[in-house]
Amino acid sequence: MKKGELLYEGKAKRLYRTENEDQLIAEFKDDLTAFNAQKRSSEEGKGALNAKISAHLFRLLEKEGIKTHLIDVLDENHHLVKKVEIIPIEVVVRNIATGSLSKRLGIEDGKILPFTLVEFYLKDDNLDDPIICDDHCMILELVDDRDKLRVLKDEAKKINTILKAFFTKRRLNLVDFKVEFGIDKNGEILLSDEISPDSCRFWDMDTNEIMDKDIFRKGIGSVKVAYEEVLNRVLKDL
Ligand code: UDP
Repeated sequence: MKKGELLYEGKAKRLYRTENEDQLIAEFKDDLTAFNAQKRSSEEGKGALNAKISAHLFRLLEKEGIKTHLIDVLDENHHLVKKVEIIPIEVVVRNIATGSLSKRLGIEDGKILPFTLVEFYLKDDNLDDPIICDDHCMILELVDDRDKLRVLKDEAKKINTILKAFFTKRRLNLVDFKVEFGIDKNGEILLSDEISPDSCRFWDMDTNEIMDKDIFRKGIGSVKVAYEEVLNRVLKDL
């Protein structure tokens, strides 16, 4: 499958057309950004690590009944994916309080939440991705009916249940993560974008060590070393 015209370039990925109008190629970039791209860097090999981790997790989720956009892995940093219309909602799932949740609501960093929290954020860098509620989603016409919001929340919770069990076996706490969904030409809602240490928080269960993009956000070590360790654990046959 050959890369066609560049359709879109985001902070961590490029999307290209292919000969098939229903399929795109996603290229995982080595670029790292944080704080709405105010902090930028690049680490060679980061894109390939995320592409491998995300492909493995998407395949695992597919096996468990979650529909995703992933069709095939083309090489170390390219995936063949179904073309979808991305719903401009960042769906964040949280098991443990940290980051913006702790800051905004004063919840102690590291507190285990009494139940899984699902939040919506508007995918809009100009507005700094504000948190939004269901009514905001409807007023902004981000989806055409409320049932879709229910589907997004239910899918996000199912994904959390599957991933939490998977990472617990690998001695990683899945603290929180962000997922995006798209709608394909048949109107089906598919898990899209990626699931990687760029979009999740992982804390080692034994040492509490941070093993995700917070290393870059906080400037506390090597992103590559941590992402490699996450990949090793993801690939572990248990
Ligand atoms: N997240 C993301 N992209 C964003 C915002 C958040 O992938 O644009 C992920 C982030 O890595 C974390 C979770 O969503 O796993 C919750 O992030 P939070 O709202 O705490 O934001 P932050 O503290 O990173 O500003």
